[in-house]
Amino acid sequence: MYDFDVLVLGSGPGGQKAAIAAAKLGRRVGVVERDNMIGGVCINTGTIPSKTLREAVLYLTGLSQREMYGQSYRVKDDITVADLAARTQHVIGREIDVIRNQLTRNRVSVLNGFGRFADPNTLTVTDGRGRESHASAAKVVIASGTRPARPSSVDFDERTIIDSDGIINLERVPRSMVVVGAGVIGIEYASMFAALGTKVTVVERRDRMLEFCDLEVIEALKYHLRDLAVTFRFGESVASVERYAEGAVAVLESGKKIAADTVMYSAGRQGTAPDLELSAAGLSADARGRLSVDEHFRTAVPHIYAVGDVIGFPALASTSMEQGRLAAHHACDEPVRAMPALQPIGIYTIPEISFIGRTEDDLTAESIPFEVGIARYRELARGQIIGDSYGMLKLLVAPEDGRLLGVHIFGTGATELVHIGQAVMGCNGTVDYLVDAVFNYPTLAEAYKVAALDAMNKMRHLSRLQ
Ligand SMILES: Cc1cc2nc3c(=O)[nH]c(=O)nc-3n(C[C@H](O)[C@H](O)[C@H](O)COP(=O)(O)OP(=O)(O)OC[C@H]3O[C@@H](n4cnc5c(N)ncnc54)[C@H](O)[C@@H]3O)c2cc1C
Repeated sequence: MYDFDVLVLGSGPGGQKAAIAAAKLGRRVGVVERDNMIGGVCINTGTIPSKTLREAVLYLTGLSQREMYGQSYRVKDDITVADLAARTQHVIGREIDVIRNQLTRNRVSVLNGFGRFADPNTLTVTDGRGRESHASAAKVVIASGTRPARPSSVDFDERTIIDSDGIINLERVPRSMVVVGAGVIGIEYASMFAALGTKVTVVERRDRMLEFCDLEVIEALKYHLRDLAVTFRFGESVASVERYAEGAVAVLESGKKIAADTVMYSAGRQGTAPDLELSAAGLSADARGRLSVDEHFRTAVPHIYAVGDVIGFPALASTSMEQGRLAAHHACDEPVRAMPALQPIGIYTIPEISFIGRTEDDLTAESIPFEVGIARYRELARGQIIGDSYGMLKLLVAPEDGRLLGVHIFGTGATELVHIGQAVMGCNGTVDYLVDAVFNYPTLAEAYKVAALDAMNKMRHLSRLQ
């Protein structure tokens, strides 16, 4: 009766995994995606370009080797945009190839074009030449993502005044940059450009940044970024941006003026749901262009699911993939388990941050007692070998039973290391497991044991006194 069992709108992490999961369950699956956007924001403008750029910056600047070889150490003196783009384009190309191959192998049809609802079971797909076709399906998964939010008062020109999508199209490495918004994306790019030698000013309306992270970790990050000549303007807002032939001036509401080669807005993202003619499907989006869903990722119309950034928080590639898989399983009447509440957060600043579980602030606010165990990379042989003297791993431990309540890591490999903590916490492991475990030596993973011993010693001291 329908062309497909499952039709997916968007091929980002959520859409891709939904399509593959449904195909693996033997369903006829189609994915609607614009010509040059296979892989979504994740592959083309977001996660993958930014993380590859970071890797290129770390390598070419030699930043991570300077503790060993001195502050003037560089792999390349004059790093150009072409140097950075070469690596980024290479990785994007490879990743698109991997995704196309996966879709083909699993017999998922890719319908090139922009999709909109014609009715609750049918999408109209308009290709790059304006030709229209229709595709119908029993179940639809919306994974259409978001785009950067652009204040209407700002005159973006894709060169001097840009948003995060514009970073990969910069013609040269700016000498100075104003980053508006100290969210994850803003601060990741601020740290990369600072590492390249750009004089970065971060303007943030709130008094703190990344307030969902451990305060001590964020203090350490700010210290490092200031060391790379980043200036923070917290509690300040940009009132207007003036564009000139040779750059721009950000005028703050306090009257301050900041001149820069480039101004990058990183002021949140807007959902793309309103572009989909939702009324034809009996749906509507919220003020931020997002859709609401139930615990099975079903929208108000039960055969239409929505996953990924278009449903809002946490809006990560990592979570979008899993939402896509779960939605597809539910749509295909497979038994599904709920998504675990315990999810890691990775922030790819330089240095990087990762955590899982609760922060000290969360626990204190809820009057939950905890003990802290800390390992510093400089006390680990691996930390000395790689020249990371600032990294640290912090465990938050429940004193009554030794359960891990949170793991917070700052420094080399943080986003990988956090998964050891995730596995222990996910299996209801305690600090005793980490105290007793033998780790490879010399590794950064050994930090878990050092921090566990630290927490254990503090708890023992307390119980001895009492
Ligand atoms: C700079 C940056 C860095 C990031 N870094 C990380 C990170 O390090 N780790 C992490 O986990 N997450 C990161 N993210 C977030 C991550 O990229 C998103 O969470 C993820 O891409 C969302 O996936 P999605 O499935 O919602 O679809 P998206 O990746 O947003 O893709 C949606 C796709 O739908 C298509 N589409 C939309 N409407 C239509 C339509 N009507 N017809 C056809 N196709 C349509 C679009 O063309 C697009 O390809 C980052 C994001 C940005 C911007």
